[in-house]
Amino acid sequence: MTVIQQFRESPVHTKCPHCQAEIVTATQYETGTLTWIICVVLCLVGCDFGCCLIPFCVDGCKDVIHSCPNCRQTISRYSRM
Ligand SMILES: [Zn+2]
Repeated sequence: MTVIQQFRESPVHTKCPHCQAEIVTATQYETGTLTWIICVVLCLVGCDFGCCLIPFCVDGCKDVIHSCPNCRQTISRYSRM
């Protein structure tokens, strides 16, 4: 039976496809498509310049990168789009 891993915001216990080690993924936030969209929307609704930069400071607006702490390869990317 194959268990489909759900890579979302929290670290996932999985087997690394690169080094075959049993690991818990290291997560890292990265600016993604949604971050830019929120930025543009804030600009359109007339927020100040500084205001549209808020999504870049909020992890909840960013993509999550899952990488292997053992071999440092990227395993999966959780995009919010
Ligand atoms: Zn690995």
